[in-house]
Amino acid sequence: MSAKNSYDVLVVGTGLYGAVFAHEAASAGKRVLVIDKRQHIAGNICTEQISGIHVHKYGAHIFHTNDRRVWSYITKFAEFNRFTNAPVANFHGELFSLPFNMYTFHRMWGVTTPEEAAACIAAQRAEVKGEPRNLEEQAISLVGRDLYEKLVKGYTEKQWGRDCRELPAFIIRRLPVRMTFDNNYFNALFQGIPVGGYTAMVARLLEGIEVRLGVDYLKEKAELDRLAGQVVYTGPIDAYFSYRLGTLEYRSVRFETELLHMPNYQGNAVVNYTDKETPWTRIIEHKWFTFGKADDGSDLPDTIISREYSAEWQPGDEPYYPVNDEKNSRLYDQYRALADKEAHVIFGGRLGAYRYYDMDAVIAAALDAAEEWLKV
Ligand SMILES: Cc1cc2nc3c(=O)[nH]c(=O)nc-3n(C[C@H](O)[C@H](O)[C@H](O)COP(=O)(O)OP(=O)(O)OC[C@H]3O[C@@H](n4cnc5c(N)ncnc54)[C@H](O)[C@@H]3O)c2cc1C
Repeated sequence: MSAKNSYDVLVVGTGLYGAVFAHEAASAGKRVLVIDKRQHIAGNICTEQISGIHVHKYGAHIFHTNDRRVWSYITKFAEFNRFTNAPVANFHGELFSLPFNMYTFHRMWGVTTPEEAAACIAAQRAEVKGEPRNLEEQAISLVGRDLYEKLVKGYTEKQWGRDCRELPAFIIRRLPVRMTFDNNYFNALFQGIPVGGYTAMVARLLEGIEVRLGVDYLKEKAELDRLAGQVVYTGPIDAYFSYRLGTLEYRSVRFETELLHMPNYQGNAVVNYTDKETPWTRIIEHKWFTFGKADDGSDLPDTIISREYSAEWQPGDEPYYPVNDEKNSRLYDQYRALADKEAHVIFGGRLGAYRYYDMDAVIAAALDAAEEWLKV
């Protein structure tokens, strides 16, 4: 057993938050130990190479940001390719472009000008009078019935496991509509996928830092706490406090991944299935994140697809999307108050903060937290 405080900081979690914090601390000369209960690094952005294809193990991850500080930081650890997310929607075999734009409107109504498209939407929106009372009315009041029926309804009902008329209107505040021929899903200055995969990028962040895998902090807390005066905890905040106030809820996702001996299954990285009858919400074809090429530039002969199913979350399942409704937000605030009393622990990342964070926001938060800590 190592001596008391043989490290300056113990980082719990090798996800993006933990890796960035650890890198910053080590670069400033601190003695850093990083642990993870999983057998691999990189947390939920982990990519695993199978048949030359970088498979996004915990769901498709597309890096996108408007934050120049984050972009110039992360590109030190990976070169990014020019991948642009342009998902396709499949409604009972009819294909539409996403996000809603002139290609979508042309396919839906045969219109060819923005003026005609705007007129179609305006006529259909008028159906909802007064304040929308549920998600269905909210969506129709934003984009009209046709787009709602074919591209929003089934997908949203699969995601939430409930009828859109039983879901609150606030879930959909905006449904962006573009009056241009532009299938680029993200409004971001910078976008791409790290060449060589996300795991290699995280490995570069952790280079030269001691990492122990298969170590659950909460199972060995007393011993591990003796190793460092400061802890950075990126696991679930309620688990840290042994769920003593109750369990924070999540929506989960189940993936069915399959290797297919064919070069091209669906011709796109992301296809959303927007009808209610198809049980999965999306199919990801991983090779298209790298344009069908292996790391050495050769064509990949096979393909790997993942069908995504939205799933009810049970304690013990992988937590994916926090449910930031009133009940869970209140419970989180109570845990946050307990966390504020743990002076030697920084709670960070998506699970520590019980927030849906895109990767760029996680990097920014970890950089800020490390800077703050290093000042002291
Ligand atoms: C399905 C899905 C798709 C997404 N797609 C995108 C996208 O396209 N673009 C984008 O920008 N963002 C995306 N995100 C968000 C992205 O996944 C997060 O921003 C990022 O993974 C957060 O990193 P993190 O370090 O906070 O958490 P994690 O990656 O979850 O890392 C936490 C780590 O802590 C470890 N840990 C937890 N408890 C313990 C313990 N007790 N002991 C030891 N280790 C522990 C875990 O094993 C894990 O490795 C997506 C998220 C989901 C759910």
